[in-house]
Formats: sequence, structure tokens, C-alpha cells
Amino acid sequence: MRYIPWVPYTTDDWSTRHSVLTTARRTAALINAVADDRADPSTVAEVLRAYGELDPIDLTSRDVAAMRTAAAQLREVFAADSAADAAATLNHLLREHTGPLRLTSHGGSTPWHPHLDHEDDAPWEEWLLASSCMALTVLVWDHQRPPGRICASSACQNVFIAHGSGPERHYCSRRCATRERVKAHRRSPRALEHA
Ligand SMILES: [Zn+2]
Repeated sequence: MRYIPWVPYTTDDWSTRHSVLTTARRTAALINAVADDRADPSTVAEVLRAYGELDPIDLTSRDVAAMRTAAAQLREVFAADSAADAAATLNHLLREHTGPLRLTSHGGSTPWHPHLDHEDDAPWEEWLLASSCMALTVLVWDHQRPPGRICASSACQNVFIAHGSGPERHYCSRRCATRERVKAHRRSPRALEHA
């Protein structure tokens, strides 16, 4: 028998780009992108591309407006402060807005993976809700705590995925963390003494 070396699945790259954590991070990035009233289809398409969506991305202003409504519903999962709260919100979304669990390979163009939207050509807002519910549900299952948070900076409304390496995060970005640290320092009595 000829020795056949083990070759990683050629779609390994696809699987990495579409891991549960990456999908959840894409959800957060899309919620943040469409939160801006001025967000246009090209801005949203850029986020989708950054998370592995292939061109052509057919996205209209109407799609973006519908995604904004879906994002507002998903934001509630990020506002949850306990696993039970996140689960209740997700259960509501799963009941009202997603189809039954199914597998698709998009006609053989991707590895088989689970979807919760009704069909591969579902509207963008349905796709956003379904793919987000899927990833956030698995994160609650896996970690038994809320999958994400809303940035603790009062000047910021961004959501972010709380899981990852390093200590627990309270801010969406280094920028927000630094801004709040500077603010707290200015407020502290020591800072006033030296003012
Ligand atoms: Zn922030």
C-alpha cells in the first residue's frame, strides 16, 4: 500500500474564516456597522468581505435598513448580563425569526455547515439574524455565560464578543479603554491635587 500523507482539508481556510467565534465577531461588526444611520451598502459589504464573504455582494440600501432592524434585535443578546438572560433572548429570536436547523454546502461550493435561515437565498436581514443566532447560541452553550457585551464607555454603543484570550474586557476597543482611563484619572482626587 502506498503511503498517503495526511493532507489538511483543502477548505481548511474556509473553516477558519467561518468558525463559530469568527461568525460571532462578524455579527458584532455588522451590528456596529449598521448602527450608524449613514452606513451605506458599500460600508456593510466591506465588513462582509473582511469576514470572508465573496464578491459580488449584492446589497441595497433597503437591505441595510432591514439589517439595522435585525441588528437592533440582536443587540439585546449583547445587553444580557447573565447566561439565563442571553438564553431567553436567543430563544425568543429562534422562535420568531429562524427556520429549522439544516445543513447546506451552497451547491457544493463550501464544506457542509449548519444554517438557520429558510433557504440559501434568504434576504440579508434573515441571514444576519439566523447566522448570528446560531453562533451566539453555540457560544452560550460552550461558555455558559453571555456571549458578548455592550462597550462600557458612555461615549460608545459598540457591541463586542467577550470571549477570547486575556483578561475580561469591558470596552470594545483599546481606544475606548484608553479614553475611559484618561477620564477616570482626571476625575480622581490625586489628579486634582496635581492639576
Ligand atoms: Zn467602545
